Amino acid sequence: MKVSVLGLGIMGAGMAGQLVAKGFEVTGWNRNPAKGASLARMGARIATTPAEAAGGADLVIAMLADDDASRSVWLGEGGALGAMRRDAIAVESSTLTIDWVRELAAAAQSRGVGFLDAPVTGSKAQAESGMLSFLVGGPVDLFERAKPALTAMSGSIAHLGPTGSGATMKLINNFLCGVQVASLAEALAMAERSGLDARQAAAVLGAGSPGSPLVKIVAQRMLDRAYEPNFFVPLMAKDLAYARQAFARAGIDLRSADIAREAFLAAERAGFGEQDIASIVELLRR
Ligand code: NAP
Repeated sequence: MKVSVLGLGIMGAGMAGQLVAKGFEVTGWNRNPAKGASLARMGARIATTPAEAAGGADLVIAMLADDDASRSVWLGEGGALGAMRRDAIAVESSTLTIDWVRELAAAAQSRGVGFLDAPVTGSKAQAESGMLSFLVGGPVDLFERAKPALTAMSGSIAHLGPTGSGATMKLINNFLCGVQVASLAEALAMAERSGLDARQAAAVLGAGSPGSPLVKIVAQRMLDRAYEPNFFVPLMAKDLAYARQAFARAGIDLRSADIAREAFLAAERAGFGEQDIASIVELLRR
């Protein structure tokens, strides 16, 4: 199977690397070409435009920052969709708005190209080790055809329903993640300011009811001040904005997401835009 990966950032690079390691014929493309170098060393072909990457591929997977990036890479000048074979499948794995995912699916359909929304949970480590979880929306026959490539990158795959179902589940998931990380920063800052041993406090939280996998991992990074990026601060702010819009459409006023989002935006304004989401605790330490 020939698979192209558009976007070789933290997540896309790991995903493409797993596809190469598992024997797929991989072509990668990234806006900043420097990020293709390590994938090229693994044996992948690096294309100079999304269209060049997409032509001849059975499956084209995008892993891009946001709606704007996705729109430009699929439909902009030199975009991927126009170059795809009619029987090929476009897979959008970026975290995007449901509206844009549906618009993109319609654009693919009008060109005779199959479309799946397949965002992921898991982060850098899971992308690099092929242990992501895919949340898939779209026709079952396309899902079955894409499955071998998705399986190569994942530890689990959930097919959730028609187009947009994966994107919807992802926004629900990341709403909860964003709110947890923002709350955790406040909780740890409170422990520190109260004179408690912060490591002991984090151990108590981790072992108790609030101890989700995310809380445990991010608390450790906050304690160690280890902010090399796994998940960039602005991307969480983006996810919370997208979730807010989706929930509002369903009649749910997501005020907790607004408050959490403000914590991530404040961290970005304070210079943590290139750091991991755990770095938001630093604003509360000042
Ligand atoms: P990242 O390292 O910042 O990668 C973002 C990618 O988008 C890069 O390839 C970047 O290209 C590209 N891009 C941004 N704007 C673009 C534009 N206008 N045109 C073309 N390409 C553009 O972020 P990431 O962590 O890999 O995240 C990628 C997606 O996965 C996001 O939607 C994110 O929300 C989602 N996600 C992330 C995680 C995580 O833990 N990191 C987990 C699950 C889902 P350049 O290199 O040229 O800037």
